[in-house]
Amino acid sequence: MALTGIQIFKLLPKTNCGECGTPTCLAFAMNLAASKAELDACPYVSDEAREQLAEASAPPIRSVVIGAGRTEVKPGGETVLFRHEKTFFNQPAIACLVSPGQDDIDSQIAWFNAMKYERVGLTLSPEMFCIKDTGDAAAFESLVDKIVAETDAALCLMTDDPAVMKKVAQKTRMYRPLLYAAGPSNVEEMGAVALEAGLPLAVKGGSIEEVQGLTKKLTGMGLKDLVLDTGARELKRAFSDSVGLRRAALTAQNRDLGFPTIVFPCEMTNNYLEEALMASTFVAKYGGIIVLSAFRAEAVFPLLLQRLNIYTDPQRPMSVTEGIYEINNPGPDSPVLVTTNFSLTYFIVAGEIEASRVPAWLLIKDSEGLSVLTAWAAGKFAGDDVGTFIKKSGIEEKISHKTVVIPGYAASISGEMEEELPGWNVQIGPREAAHIPKYLKDWSA
Ligand code: SF4
Repeated sequence: MALTGIQIFKLLPKTNCGECGTPTCLAFAMNLAASKAELDACPYVSDEAREQLAEASAPPIRSVVIGAGRTEVKPGGETVLFRHEKTFFNQPAIACLVSPGQDDIDSQIAWFNAMKYERVGLTLSPEMFCIKDTGDAAAFESLVDKIVAETDAALCLMTDDPAVMKKVAQKTRMYRPLLYAAGPSNVEEMGAVALEAGLPLAVKGGSIEEVQGLTKKLTGMGLKDLVLDTGARELKRAFSDSVGLRRAALTAQNRDLGFPTIVFPCEMTNNYLEEALMASTFVAKYGGIIVLSAFRAEAVFPLLLQRLNIYTDPQRPMSVTEGIYEINNPGPDSPVLVTTNFSLTYFIVAGEIEASRVPAWLLIKDSEGLSVLTAWAAGKFAGDDVGTFIKKSGIEEKISHKTVVIPGYAASISGEMEEELPGWNVQIGPREAAHIPKYLKDWSA
């Protein structure tokens, strides 16, 4: 169990020196208990106290790293039940289940390698293959070799046989695969394999209670990196278990259940569209690794987008850095456009300029991640501000004219801008980004 603020306080130096950023050791202890402070902020904690306090300062759900030297995933580490309370940090891995003899393995590998979607400056892609032993150890090993050789996917090795697991785990341990799974019948043997190889281990029980008994045993053996599977293969129970585990870890501070989960929508239905819907349930609530039956673009792409939306901070809009962006190799005579730094605004405007093939300078002004209309309404894209930004941006040294194009929706700032930028011509651009290509083709300073 996590320590209370008072228990933590008893282990602190009690000098109230304030170096941790809080005026008293008691306030720091309370913040630590509420996961609002980092233990490292106090330089005076003794090693002995540090060991005891590590538990209190650790996230209630351990984050487990899988995939060293390859695509790395890090499920877990979450501290809240609801995204509006704070944010979700470690997005669930999207995985595909494959087994020896399956006739579409080459196409699954090809899909995995091809699925790289650019979106608001990020590359979205699935991360993982779960490779399942079907009783032929040599074929299992050879499929693991194939996935290792032909992809950079994080790996989950699935076999019930501790001897087979030991062999494959030793061979792939440098890639830090997840070993799946320790169950009631093999918990000691699988625990020993994971311990010896230093690898994360999935725990599979028939219920939350059984999983808890297994994790107790495994943590008692010294294992720290566990991933939980309650064995539910029907949506209602899997969903209920997923929520139950999160609540147990966060609300009841049950350390035995404070680990990320692995869920198998691929084993809950034979219909791949239903499977995608089930997977989306676990993107929101609270899958750590979500295993699909195949990488199909029409299922994976929406899941990746949903994941992007859920795992961004709702209080901080996505933004790009303020500055000058060169598009289509602009020169001194090229037009200059200015807009806000909301990611979506930037990528839409930049995309339209690119599509126009007209060389242009795009000035991005920091508007705290707000879109044009919102920024204007909130006073983050006011004429004097934008004018000052243009003066300081250094664009004047790059161009031979003094004309700047502002978004049509911010037409009302043109007067203030002209006052701030004497000698400049402020032109009103299109309201809609889709009209930018035609506008640029007809543009003159
Ligand atoms: Fe107390 Fe350490 Fe903070 Fe100083 S830095 S006030 S000793 S908790």
